[in-house]
Formats: sequence, C-alpha cells, structure tokens
Amino acid sequence: MRLHRPSGRLPGGRRRPREILTVVTADHSPAPDRSSGADERPLGPDAGADLDAEWSRTVKTLAGATEICLACHIRPDADALGSMLAVLLALRARGSARVIASFGDRPFVVPRILRFLPGTELLSPPDAYPERPQVMVTFDAASADRLGLLDAYAARADELIVLDHHASNTRFGTVNLVDPAAAATAVLAFDLVARLGAEITRDIALGLYAGLVTDTGSFKYGGTSPRVHLLAARLLETGIDPGPVAYELWDRSPFAFLGLLSAVLGRAQLERAAAGGRGLVWTTVTRADRARDGLPFDVAESVIDVVRRTEEAEVAVVLKEDGDGRWQVSARSKGAVDVGRACVALGGGGHRMAAGFTAQGPATEVMAALRPQLAAGA
Ligand code: AMP
Ligand code: MN
Ligand code: MN
Repeated sequence: MRLHRPSGRLPGGRRRPREILTVVTADHSPAPDRSSGADERPLGPDAGADLDAEWSRTVKTLAGATEICLACHIRPDADALGSMLAVLLALRARGSARVIASFGDRPFVVPRILRFLPGTELLSPPDAYPERPQVMVTFDAASADRLGLLDAYAARADELIVLDHHASNTRFGTVNLVDPAAAATAVLAFDLVARLGAEITRDIALGLYAGLVTDTGSFKYGGTSPRVHLLAARLLETGIDPGPVAYELWDRSPFAFLGLLSAVLGRAQLERAAAGGRGLVWTTVTRADRARDGLPFDVAESVIDVVRRTEEAEVAVVLKEDGDGRWQVSARSKGAVDVGRACVALGGGGHRMAAGFTAQGPATEVMAALRPQLAAGA
C-alpha cells in the first residue's frame, strides 16, 4: 500500500515569510465577546498576539489588494466551498479588487451536491491563477498539500492567509486564522465577511450555512455550541429555508444509489476486537460499484453516515475509490478513539471524530495499516 503523505517540506521556491502570525480565536458570534480570553488557547510561537491586530492585518491586506486569489481544499465539501463562495461574494460586493476563486482539482468539477450554492458560476479553473498571487486566502485546508494543484501557487504568494479549523493545521500561511474550537471554517469565514464590513446577504449566508450544517452533522456533533446555533440563527434570518438545503446536501440521489448502497453495505465487516476492543466497522465503495450505473464519486460521500450507525463499533471507515484508483478514506469515531491522529499518522488529516487519508493498493492492505493506528488511539 502506498500512502499519500504531505512532504512536510517548505514548498519549492517558497520565501520564508517575514513574519508569521498565528491567531487562535474562540470568537464565533457576530458581536465577539472579548471580556474573557479564557478559551483562547495558544498554539504556536506567535500565539497570544492581539487578535484584533491579526484580524485587522487580514482586513487591511484584503482592502489594499488589487487582486485577491481564493482557494479551498481539493474535492471540496460544503464547508470548504461554501466558506470560499461567501468570501468571494463579499469581496465582489466591495468591488475594490479582482477576485479569483478556485480549487486545485483536475478535472475541475464542482461536486454535484454543491452546485446549488450561489456563486459557483464565478469560480475559475486553477489555470486562471496568476503565477505569483499577491494575496491568497485558503479555506478549510489543514496543510498546503490539500490545495492540490494550487499548492505551488500558495508557496509563491506574497501574503498567504489561512482560514481553517483543523487541529492538525500546519500553519503554512503568513497569517494563520486557525481555530480548532470552531465548528466549521464557515464560522471564521463569517467573521471575515463581517470584519470586511460586507452585508451578510442571503447568498453569502447560504454558503456559510451549508458549511456549518455539514461540519456539525446537522447540529449533532460535538462542537455544536450555543454560539453555533446563534450563528445559524443569524444566517437563517437572511431568508434561508433549511429544508431545501438539507435536501440538496443529503436527501437526494439517483435511484441507482440504492443498488450501490445495497452492495456496499452488504460487504461491510464488523471487527469487534479492533480499535482496542471498541469495535470497527468498514466497507469499500469501488469504481466498479459506481461504474455500473455511471454514478459520480460524490455519491460515495454519504455512505459513511449509514455505516457509522453501527452500535457495536466505535470506529467506522469507508474506503472510496476515486477516478484515479486511489482510496479516499473516511473515518469516524464516537469520541473514544482519535481517528484524526490515526489518519494524520497515515498522511491524512481531520478531527478527533471525523478524519481521512488517501492511500493506494489493495483495500485489505490499507486496513492492515490503519488497524494498529486505531488500536494506538483507543
Ligand atoms: P471526509 O471523511 O471526507 O468527510 O473528511 C473528514 C475530515 O477529514 C475533514 O476534516 C477532511 O478535511 C479530513 N480529510 C479527509 N480526507 C483527507 C485527506 N486525504 N487528507 C487530509 N485530510 C483529510
Ligand atoms: Mn473540509
Ligand atoms: Mn471544515
């Protein structure tokens, strides 16, 4: 089995930033409460710097730029794309800079379930990027390699602003607006839009809401704080109807999906002794499963939500074979096992309860590499 590991290098040609600002903010509400710094947790050498200063550096940089390049992680989910689209629409409303928004996939295809998000028609393929971006902002990418083709552009950017909420974030920007306590990157994107002084229109709110509702598992996962609901309320106030959003994101699929689901669930395996005796359930979604009815890769994304129901298993894993024959692995835990750490050890990333990695080779070998990591994290 081959793992796709981030290289850990400073990408080629990258000039060391003059100054690296690391921001850890727990401000998730429209009107941040700065009376208590109690939940601000330092994460890096520059942590503890005045939050307002870093936010204003970001806002000042964006206000002064004539060209702004936005990028979210490859094979974007609703948090990555929705956050980027919200900021794209806010920057376009200001009108002071040319804005390019993309992600580094080739072929460049917006996932089917995200095509309802306002602003997707404004996206450009990665080739539209300038060789050396003046200002670049990344969304929901825990490391530079998650930018795919745009990794090299990030390495050359004069100013690289990283907006993210992964604890595993490598702080690869010149400004790192990284908050592991945030339920979604959309929370930080909301803060950015608000600080840009842009009106939170319904279209902007829709991208943010899609990110928030996705990353909180429809307000079910840990991290679904009162502040998350306050933000959701603020976004819904713009006129969003949550029903159709849920329908687009999770509640529709072609009839052929039922056949795929039946095959995929039928071969699921329960290993009670795995994950330190807490139990593991896993299955695969192969290219052949999808090819029978010409189903796109993104239909495989929802399978984990069924598999993880298994009450005998602490950990659920789905190996999804992409168009290039690599396994895009999704892992979920119920809290006792840190799947984020297990996936980071295999070159991936994510959070304690939801994480993933990319690998190549027989599924049995991928699982053989994962089992000891799950046992170690139990
Ligand atoms: P998913 O299973 O695709 O919904 O992803 C769950 C979490 O794991 C998200 O936070 C992803 O950003 C992260 N993740 C998934 N796949 C990878 C990967 N190949 N490399 C790094 N992080 C990943
Ligand atoms: Mn994401
Ligand atoms: Mn996210």
